[in-house]
Amino acid sequence: MPSPSRRAARLAVHQRQPCTFDSPRLPDGHRSPVSAYFGRHVLDLIKLKERLPREAYQALLATLRGGAPLSREVAETIAAAAREWATSHGATHFTHWFQPMTGLTAEKHDSFIDLNVQIPGELKVLEKFSGSQLTQSEPDASSFPSGGMRTTFEARGYTAWDPSSPMFLVESVNGRTLCVPSVFISYHGHSLDHKTPLLRALEALNRQAVAFLKLLGDVDVQSVGATLGCEQEYFLVDRDHFALRPDLVLCDRTLVGASSPRGQQFEDHYFGSIPPRVLAFMEEMEFELHRLGIPVKTRHNEVAPMQFEMAPIFEDVNMANDHNALAMDVARKVALKHHFVCLFHEKPFEGLNGSGKHCNWSLVTDRGENLLDPGRTPHQNLRFLAFMAVCLKAVHDHADALRAGIATANNDLRLGANEAPPAIISVFVGDQMTRIIEKTVAGSAGEDPEHFVIEMGVGKLPQLARDYTDRNRTSPFAFTGNKFEFRAVGSSMNCAGPLMMLIAGVADALGQMGARLQAKLGGSKGGRDQAVLELLREVFAETTAVRFEGNNYSEEWRKEAARRKLPNFTDTPAALAMLRDPKRNAFLCEQGVFSEVELASRYNVALERYIKHVALEAETLLEMLSTLVIPAGEKQLAQSAAAWSSASGGPAAGAARALEGRLQAVATALGDVAGATHQLERLLDEVLAIHDEPACARRLADGVRPLMAQAREAADRLEAQVDDELWPMPKYREMLFVK
Ligand code: ADP
Ligand code: MG
Repeated sequence: MPSPSRRAARLAVHQRQPCTFDSPRLPDGHRSPVSAYFGRHVLDLIKLKERLPREAYQALLATLRGGAPLSREVAETIAAAAREWATSHGATHFTHWFQPMTGLTAEKHDSFIDLNVQIPGELKVLEKFSGSQLTQSEPDASSFPSGGMRTTFEARGYTAWDPSSPMFLVESVNGRTLCVPSVFISYHGHSLDHKTPLLRALEALNRQAVAFLKLLGDVDVQSVGATLGCEQEYFLVDRDHFALRPDLVLCDRTLVGASSPRGQQFEDHYFGSIPPRVLAFMEEMEFELHRLGIPVKTRHNEVAPMQFEMAPIFEDVNMANDHNALAMDVARKVALKHHFVCLFHEKPFEGLNGSGKHCNWSLVTDRGENLLDPGRTPHQNLRFLAFMAVCLKAVHDHADALRAGIATANNDLRLGANEAPPAIISVFVGDQMTRIIEKTVAGSAGEDPEHFVIEMGVGKLPQLARDYTDRNRTSPFAFTGNKFEFRAVGSSMNCAGPLMMLIAGVADALGQMGARLQAKLGGSKGGRDQAVLELLREVFAETTAVRFEGNNYSEEWRKEAARRKLPNFTDTPAALAMLRDPKRNAFLCEQGVFSEVELASRYNVALERYIKHVALEAETLLEMLSTLVIPAGEKQLAQSAAAWSSASGGPAAGAARALEGRLQAVATALGDVAGATHQLERLLDEVLAIHDEPACARRLADGVRPLMAQAREAADRLEAQVDDELWPMPKYREMLFVK
């Protein structure tokens, strides 16, 4: 018999009370309007301006605007102001907060205390935070992924303050810590994190876009940046259920588990009323996020049961990415207080929708103009079309880089499943844009540009932004009126991975189109608009293959995409290969996003993570099969055999026949589980002995994962035959319908 406590715990979850309105878990502050406490835990520019001498503040602004290095004195002044602010809010420690290639954020706390011994024997403790502690720190970097770039004798790595993202306070049960957003680089200056290449890609974008805009006649634009608003999906599982499932504890996803009769088929969860326990969690999480200056705005139920989404108001990419990483961390912590575990895994439950992180993205000038928003004048519309062409070219030319940027073992389980975009990267632009693009391509070069712009309806383009009727939810990269939505990004990812690829691709497209436009401007008789139109015509025509308006989930699209020769890398080992192909990844080096050494290291880190990940899942599955599933099956077999033998031979012959059927079903499923377990064990040993990493990863994708699915299928068949009392793990129906 299983210990009664296991089953009791499975069911007790459903008796848990949500916190009631009479006993708010939130500090009193949350009853005030959000604006009263928004950003309270952030040392933003307004607060710095109040606390810094004028010259120091001006020097900081110069650094932020032009990248001028901060002098030592200014760093000291800022550090002192930061310490004062932080300690006045109860902070005892500080940390550089960074985003190594683990997919999580990292921190190493130091206390503000310092010892002051002026007279020997008279020891005083005081708080100190120096300029150099603010600007640089040296974590023991040897334990972070580096893809072989850092040999152990050169284990040093540095974190360096990124002043473009403000410092903030993180609250724990007994204290607060000042966090300094930082980049993480090796002793020789190679990037070891997500933030550094993102910042470099943004620099490249700025350079190329400003130059391109000048060619278009927009000479006043000083800088161009990118905006990001990510819709973050997640699942919640009760902690008691979580604790009883080794697969969730170790891998964040279920490796076995029969589907519940009720799943998402009633389509009743999406936008449904939010369960009170969940709402209590969301409210507390949002309170924390708002105090951290993270502008979360939207919350709702997602398609799968116990799946939810949060979305912020968009911000500059670097800030939005830091905020997303921080929001995930806060969500995990607050969920625990509400007796939930927050799962950001891309596919925690088989047979239900997985979770993505739709990255809404656009380009913006220093004057706040959205370059992907159709404008009001013919010139603005032409500029809009030019940037549309840039984006199409970026995705067309660098679809494989975008695919590599979203490649993880987890996301492989989601991409191409029947509810998520496939691994083929295409662009959806909508009916109206398609008509405009096709008209542009068909138009003759001699046409009067002004007339053409009006003729093809570009003069009325603002309506596009309001036209949400023809949304295509199946596309991995969709234009949604005034921004693109990169939907293939997985829910657990650091957005910088995919976005640096996208932004570097856009910078490359801008550079290429700029050069072509310049050549045309030299030779064109028809003036600038004429030259731009000519270029648009060419680029729209060249990028036709990447545009797809139909159902991306369909089998026909797979065939059609193959005909169009669009890459379709169905798994991570295949998708990562471009990182090793200098022909394919040269643009990343040309735009200054990666050095060749860094690219090699990214490849190694990503491949190694894939191998470790799949190996961990396979080992966890094997342990669960051997210690939970098979023992439950054996008990059931004994029980069924006993029931059958006591019925057979007696008067209950009919019952005996039924019991025999049951006995056979149990025996068959159990035999299949045991067989698959044995096979998986042998294959895993063999594959993990392969030293060549790409070959090992290939075999994991082609051999181990399919065998895991086969073992799971047998285990799930067995689950359906085993007495509920005997089943040792929470079932799908129990985990997914917590009220
Ligand atoms: P929808 O739900 O129609 O996709 P929303 O307006 O709700 O659109 O936006 C979804 C996300 O897109 C939000 O996080 C929002 O802030 C973000 N977003 C809106 N405009 C932009 C933009 N110009 N750049 C980046 N993100 C944007
Ligand atoms: Mg959504």
